[in-house]
Amino acid sequence: MSEDIAHLFFEGELIELLTCAHQFGIVRYAANREASIKDVVEAIGVPPTEVYAIRMNGKEYDFSLQLSPDARITFLPARLTSDYPVDVTRTTLLRPALKELRFLVDENVARLALLLRAFGFDAAYHRTWNDEYIAELAAREGRVVLSRDRGLLKRGAVEHGRLIRSQVADEQLQEVLKHFKMPNRVRAFSRCFRCNVITEPVDKAEIKHLLEPKTRARYHTFRRCPTCKRVYWRGVHYERLMARFVSLGINMRRFM
Ligand SMILES: [Zn+2]
Repeated sequence: MSEDIAHLFFEGELIELLTCAHQFGIVRYAANREASIKDVVEAIGVPPTEVYAIRMNGKEYDFSLQLSPDARITFLPARLTSDYPVDVTRTTLLRPALKELRFLVDENVARLALLLRAFGFDAAYHRTWNDEYIAELAAREGRVVLSRDRGLLKRGAVEHGRLIRSQVADEQLQEVLKHFKMPNRVRAFSRCFRCNVITEPVDKAEIKHLLEPKTRARYHTFRRCPTCKRVYWRGVHYERLMARFVSLGINMRRFM
């Protein structure tokens, strides 16, 4: 009786995602039914968003590769490919290009949304959005889904995503900044924390009645959110965030 066993080789950080039996990342998989490699990878715990190369016999394949008996297939995370940090504006064999690096943040990493906005990133988030809506919105608006939930990242509509490993917001930010190639256009402190829209310069005269006397005396440059009308200036909150970014080893000058 033939065994029809395929050997799947998972490398680097993909190994720790495996939920099936394996030896140092090598999975013996019964190839006794027709299945695309995408279904197989998902079935053994790995969200396709974490895979950046699929190789067999020295050739690269996409997720539609059909599993065949005796196949020996290697799966690589981004870090082990030449496409790292990941440039989402480039089309690859596994994913279409996005227009720009924009995020959609799942509720389980909600604090990450605020940090990304402080950085100047477009980071959409709402606590009432469910998995189905997040996946659909990400596809419609061309966004990268950030989540700690593998189930969400396995949804068919999610092509670009990143499984966040840490439970600590600062470390989550570092994960994202390390994983994705930062565009040059990011401008820190240019976005409303609450609404995720770009704030606009506003004359002090126009908003000075809204300020505390101390703020009025000390600060002269202000921005305002066109949506919620919240006014921003480089005060204590700004100083604290700057200090936090610096302590994370992030060179903010690059983004100012
Ligand atoms: Zn706002």
